[in-house]
Parts: sequence; structure tokens; C-alpha cells
Amino acid sequence: MLRGEFQGETRMHDFYYDRKGDLCCEKVPLKKILKKTGTPTYIYSSRTISEHLAKIQKAFRSVRPLICYSVKANSNLAVLKTLVKNGAGLDIVSGGELFRARKVQCPGRKIVYAGVGKTDEEIREAIRARILLFNVESLPELERIHQIAKAMRKQVNVSLRVNPNVDPHTHAYITTGRAETKFGIDFDRARSIYLESKKLTHATLCGLHVHIGSQIETGEPFVEAFRKILEFVDDLELAGIKIKFLNLGGGLGVIYSDENPQTADEFAKKILPLFKKRKYQIIFEPGRFIVANAGVLAAKVLYVKETAVKKFLITDAGMNDLIRPAFYNAYHGIWPIRKQEHVARWVYDVVGPICESGDFFAKDRELPEMRSGDFLTVMTSGAYGFTMSSNYNSRRRACEVLVKGASFRVVRQRETYQDLVRGEKI
Ligand SMILES: *Cc1c(COP(=O)(O)O)cnc(C)c1O
Repeated sequence: MLRGEFQGETRMHDFYYDRKGDLCCEKVPLKKILKKTGTPTYIYSSRTISEHLAKIQKAFRSVRPLICYSVKANSNLAVLKTLVKNGAGLDIVSGGELFRARKVQCPGRKIVYAGVGKTDEEIREAIRARILLFNVESLPELERIHQIAKAMRKQVNVSLRVNPNVDPHTHAYITTGRAETKFGIDFDRARSIYLESKKLTHATLCGLHVHIGSQIETGEPFVEAFRKILEFVDDLELAGIKIKFLNLGGGLGVIYSDENPQTADEFAKKILPLFKKRKYQIIFEPGRFIVANAGVLAAKVLYVKETAVKKFLITDAGMNDLIRPAFYNAYHGIWPIRKQEHVARWVYDVVGPICESGDFFAKDRELPEMRSGDFLTVMTSGAYGFTMSSNYNSRRRACEVLVKGASFRVVRQRETYQDLVRGEKI
């Protein structure tokens, strides 16, 4: 078997060209899948998902962390089930994600719930589901949760999400631990909330949560943030507040092109010494690290359009399917599903059919010559791909496929036109 050009921990090691030059996922050639499903289609490798989870589990096994996979990265039920079966809990940010968590029978004691804007209804549902922890992001939210718990005569466990004001050196839109973002509570305010919280009869503030951002490539921002929170926790304990859960968030970076992010082992080596001799239950919330390189978006080239200054590959997938290039100017590899040696190479813009100039997957990318009817894949699309997709331009959302070894299953059907207008009235 010929491996693809990407290898290693968070690269696309389950996507590679076989001897005949067909792009495969695990043991299945993509052309076989696309023959059945058509395009655009998301294709995920079950093995990559399990292996990435196992890497974190293994690297941190000495502290037996609870790994709550961040559902918003990829919330397909089959993906969630794969992770829950392998021992993961889930990190949710909405009532909809709680609904998904329950569909895959994730035990409540393995669910943590973050987000700055939880509604009363969502809070009630989470209390009913007996989740492990609410990650609370403001004082009014804490008061509301307490009020609701009291009315339901239930006791809830709460972590305050602190904002440690560190710069994770990532894209501004995925930076969450700087003082000017809407996330978390600064140390001074958090301290007085913990101290005041003894008065709360139906909420126990027994945890601390921090999540500083996403696609963070080095250990330093994490170490800086975790040092700050440990100092803070020590101070709280002196004041008589007992902290049991330390939720360290997600944010581990992956390889999209030439990044060189820390591996799970390197991350653990940097982090574990900080927590030596401390008895907290550690929680992690990885999302991207687990699923980004487990998935691709496959599309068909509809037209090759030449202008005076450009060659465009116009595909049947668009920014409504994968918005990361438009939203974050993100880089994604583009691979043909059939490897072509000895063909001309051209510089293309790979674009979608949507009426927006932001509708592109790659700009000025050198690729082997492609023709109308050829298939290509947008790589590293397993995280924040389908979950951020929309029906813009009244396009039906893509179908999703999960590959396991030599077999594959459609785990979400392509939407129909009826799905598009469901609930609408004239
Ligand atoms: C989005 C999010 C995560 C996951 O982030 P990744 O960068 O995908 O690992 C974890 N925790 C919280 C609170 C989040 O909002």
C-alpha cells in the first residue's frame, strides 16, 4: 500500500492512494463510496477517530482524565457513538447537543455543559439528564441555574469558566481566553463568586473550567493558563473552597498543511508535571484533535472555467458545506480522488457554486490537471465541517459516510428538497 503524503499523529493517515492510484479511506476506495452516494459527501474514518481518542487517553493515563469530546466539532450520531463506546464523555454547548448525547446513550455523569447563553429550558433539560457539571460563564447564569435547580429540588455541580487572559496565538475567531472575549470570568470576579457561593443551597461550585482557544500548536499557552489557574485554585483552597474537578478544555492543534503541532505525548509531558501530587479529577474537551483529520469532503468538478487571469475548478460543494476557508481563511489540502502521474499541473482556484466571492476552498493552488466530472476531496474537514454547514442558497446539506475497515455506511442521508421547506407555510 502506498501511503499518502500526509503521515503522523493528526495527519490523514487513513486516507492514502492505493497501488492503482485510487484515494482510499481505510480499505475503501472513495470512488466506490461516491458511486453510491453522489457528491458532495463527507467521509469519515472510524479508525482515525478511535485512534486519536486513544492517543489522549494513553498520554494522560497516569491521571485517569475524563475525556469529554467536544460535540460541536462533529456531532454526527455515528461519530459520537464511536467515541462514547470507547469511553469518551461529551462536552456540549446546547440543548440540541444534549439531545444528541442522549441519543447515543452517553451517561449524564460524563457530560459537561459550556456556553455563555444557556436558556431556562436547556438548563432544565440538563438537570433532568443529571449531567456532571455546568460550566458557568457569568454570575447571572449561575444565579439562574441555582434558581431552576431549587425549583426542581435538585442539586447541581458547577464549574466556573475562568478567563485567564492568555494569548493562544491562533486565529482571532477561535481565541477564547483573552480578556476582551465574551468567554469566562476574570480571576477577581470568579474568586468572589466562589466565596459567595457557599450561600447557594442547590448548587455546589466544585470545579474550575478553562478553554483558551482552538488550533493551538504549542504547549506554552496551555502551561501559562494552567499555571495561573493552579495558583488561583490554591488561593481558593486557602479560603476554604474545595475544588474537585479541573476542566482544562480542548484546543489542541492539528495539521492542515505544514503546521507542526504538539503530539498528545508532548502535550502530556508539558502538562502532567504541573498536576503532580494534586488529586483533582482532570477533564479534557478535545474536538478538532480527534476528528479534523478523520474526515474529508468529496466533491465533483462541474466545470473548468478559464478567465484572462485565472483557472477555476467549480465544484458541486460550496461554502455552505464547508465554511472554514470563507470564515477563517483556513487552508485545506485538495486531493484528486484519482492520482494522476505524468499530467500537466495548473494553478487553480477551487470554488463552489454559491453566489458569494467568499465561496472558495483553495486559491492559487497547484494541482494536476482536472476535468469536468473528476472528483476531488477537501482534506482535514472532519472538524467544524458538516457541523457549520447550512442551507444557504437553498442547497441541501451533504450526506455523511462512516468508513470502518473494508465497509462503509451512510450515517446521514443527503437532505431532500422536502427537508428544505419542512415547517414552512405559504
Ligand atoms: C469548542 C470547544 C472545545 C473544543 O475545542 P477544539 O479546539 O476543537 O479542541 C472545548 N471546550 C469548549 C468549551 C469549547 O467551546
